[in-house]
Amino acid sequence: MTTKKILLEEKDIPSAWYNIVADMKNKPLPPLNPATKQPLTSEDLYPLFAKELAVQELNQTDQWIEIPEEVRELYGMWRPTPLVRAYGLEKALDTPAHIYFKNESISPVGSHKLNSAIAQAYYCKKEGVSNITTETGAGQWGAAMSYAAKAFGLELAVYMVKISYEQKPYRRSMMQTFGAQVIASPSMSTKAGRKIITENPQYMGSLGTAISEAVELAMQTPNCKYVLGSVLNHVALHQTVIGLEAEKQMEIAGEYPDVIVACFGGGSNFSGIAFPFLRHKFTEGKEIRVVAAEPASCPKLTHGVFQYDFGDEAGYTPLLPMYTLGHTFAPPHIHAGGLRYHGAGTIVSQLHKDGVMEATDVEQLDAFKAAVLFARTESIIPAPESSHAIAAVVREAERAKIEGKQKTILFNLSGHGLIDMASYDKYLAGDLSNYELTDADLAKSINPLEKII
Ligand SMILES: *Cc1c(COP(=O)(O)O)cnc(C)c1O
Repeated sequence: MTTKKILLEEKDIPSAWYNIVADMKNKPLPPLNPATKQPLTSEDLYPLFAKELAVQELNQTDQWIEIPEEVRELYGMWRPTPLVRAYGLEKALDTPAHIYFKNESISPVGSHKLNSAIAQAYYCKKEGVSNITTETGAGQWGAAMSYAAKAFGLELAVYMVKISYEQKPYRRSMMQTFGAQVIASPSMSTKAGRKIITENPQYMGSLGTAISEAVELAMQTPNCKYVLGSVLNHVALHQTVIGLEAEKQMEIAGEYPDVIVACFGGGSNFSGIAFPFLRHKFTEGKEIRVVAAEPASCPKLTHGVFQYDFGDEAGYTPLLPMYTLGHTFAPPHIHAGGLRYHGAGTIVSQLHKDGVMEATDVEQLDAFKAAVLFARTESIIPAPESSHAIAAVVREAERAKIEGKQKTILFNLSGHGLIDMASYDKYLAGDLSNYELTDADLAKSINPLEKII
């Protein structure tokens, strides 16, 4: 019998996260205070974030950061996650490529997001914080944070992008089941929300707007911190448990990936699977390709600019050096809600600028076509976000077939799609389409950016 699943034991849950910045020759540029344009220190971030997280955010020297025992224990609820050889998909594609995926969909909330949610809730609790705020797009981060907040006895308020609040009610139900308060964004509860609603009453929200609201509430509430599910360095750090486990599992499989693929929203699951392997590239000169798959309708890595920009629509956050489409970019309403963000994490942005990684864009219909093929061959219905990675993997596997070359592909299955079946219904009924963005569309939000770099 061929081995399909490579499992680790609970004792194999990593004991430290990998901080790639320590190994980067070109470190990411610092975040800037928008008023003074001066680099920020960890202390500047303390009002917004838990201290330990603010320190992790700017840590450029420690290669390894110990995972607290309480966090490891909670990871043990579902980690280590399986590494699976996708024999069914390989056969359907008739490819010589070997395809492996890391199955992060088995977490209690169905995505990789819990890896960071638990760590962030832990540090907030440890510092004596009682309330936290956050935002969520399609609801995966909100669901993960609701679970983690409950685990540590914290009160959580989640600003959920209005279109998802209305169209994807079941993740809202999940959040409420775990005990969080969920508010549709834009809302009348903040200055940022009121401004947007009065200027454009039809606006169905974006992650950028929801971030503005969550940040504003956190800054105005005593003993309250803000948490974020992607983009930031400490989030990428926590997600490295994915790649660290996969590293061991690939070794057990007796293979080494030629190419690693992950879908890309702000970069957290991509960083999680890719960074531990990029360590081999940096420290041992290993040849490895890492590919970020982003939606063609929100293409910051393939069509954005590398520039300082705000992380949110209203401009409350520090200025971050990143690939961006401009913080006022309003992405089309594709069904992969978790990928609708205008920017990319600063570490990933530096790596992309330095040519260490690649990016590719995927049309919505190609993502769903790959998703359905994956469901029918591997028995897991993938999240619309993860389907972008699968579509990019299909391309790699088809190329291997044309070239007649064996290659080993590893990708991250960031989540399942069982709460996204409404989008599958639309796809299967032929009601979904691609979104064509022209250079002129992109220029509207990119051109106004201040040229700091
Ligand atoms: C949030 C999310 C993403 C995108 O976020 P990244 O930070 O880029 O990983 C991808 N897949 C799933 C399932 C998600 O929930």
